[in-house]
Amino acid sequence: MITKTTKTGPRPKFAAYRKILEKKADEVRRSMSAQKAAQVVARLDVPSDEGDLSQQHHEEWIFLNRNTIDMKLLREIADALHRIQTGAYGTCMECEEPISPKRLDAVPWARYCVACQEAIAARIALGDYEDEYQEA
Ligand SMILES: [Zn+2]
Repeated sequence: MITKTTKTGPRPKFAAYRKILEKKADEVRRSMSAQKAAQVVARLDVPSDEGDLSQQHHEEWIFLNRNTIDMKLLREIADALHRIQTGAYGTCMECEEPISPKRLDAVPWARYCVACQEAIAARIALGDYEDEYQEA
């Protein structure tokens, strides 16, 4: 029988997370194709007489936006799977402290610990605020 050494492979500790991440990636992919199908059906259902263009555009925007979020999530999951492989998984990429199992259970693709995530989110929120301010 072949005995595999797991020294360079994923840590068994994170094997469960790998399964969760792979399952989640599958779900997102499936939901994306379901949304695509629903969008095609919705298009066929649109009455051709008084087609409300702005409503149509709004729906397209929501669809694209949701798709972008799904794409981002897929990328996050792929990155997390990669980190499991390299052994970097479960470690905050900012302060290099271990991410709590509680957080990993809630967000298995988390890159940062709660404290760093909050600090980063605050910076992003600040950036968004400035953008809005300039555009207004
Ligand atoms: Zn951190």
